[in-house]
Amino acid sequence: MNPTQLAGKSDDPSAPQDEAREAARPNRDEVLAAVRTLIRWAGDDPAREGLLGTPDRVARSYEQYFQGYALDPVAILQRTFEEVDGYDEIVLLRDIRFVSHCEHHIMPIIGRAHVGYLPDKRVVGISKLARIVDAYARRLQIQEKMTAQIANTIEDVLQPQGVGVVIEATHQCMTTRGVHKPGAMMVTSRMLGRFRSDPRTRREFLSLIRAQGGGPDHS
Ligand SMILES: [Zn+2]
Repeated sequence: MNPTQLAGKSDDPSAPQDEAREAARPNRDEVLAAVRTLIRWAGDDPAREGLLGTPDRVARSYEQYFQGYALDPVAILQRTFEEVDGYDEIVLLRDIRFVSHCEHHIMPIIGRAHVGYLPDKRVVGISKLARIVDAYARRLQIQEKMTAQIANTIEDVLQPQGVGVVIEATHQCMTTRGVHKPGAMMVTSRMLGRFRSDPRTRREFLSLIRAQGGGPDHS
């Protein structure tokens, strides 16, 4: 929760360290052995019949959960449309479901993201906003950082008049272990440009999120 992380970029896990990370990537046999070690740590026998296929399934699950490292969020947003015919209202994609994993416990963070921006000349296909959420969710994350990364990337690539990102999520490291608070939901937001400076724009964004059963008031 170091506040400097919220500024984004400095620890953005894309780009320069990619090669180093690729070189350090373990091979499949090492991963299977690591899962067998965790099974033994749990107190069971990895040679037991029911567990024989487990290391392989865990390895494949990791490939899905952490696909985001192979995605380039900037590239996802780069194809924009410039003909907006004077459209200058908020564009919002609400209730984008995502599954991420907390970087402290590698346990699921399950929630919804609401992503809005106020275009300035350029707009992007609406599905790209969902893909950008996935590109950052499918990594080891903390919710605050993910919220900032999504907003900062949209700001950098689309250069809109403003960006707002609200994420609400439950953290299984908190609901199933530790303090055991089932149902507790964490809400984070990042507002840039007009969403930060203009209270009317921010209010409109928040009311659009809450309209018709979306938003923080609704489970
Ligand atoms: Zn955690």
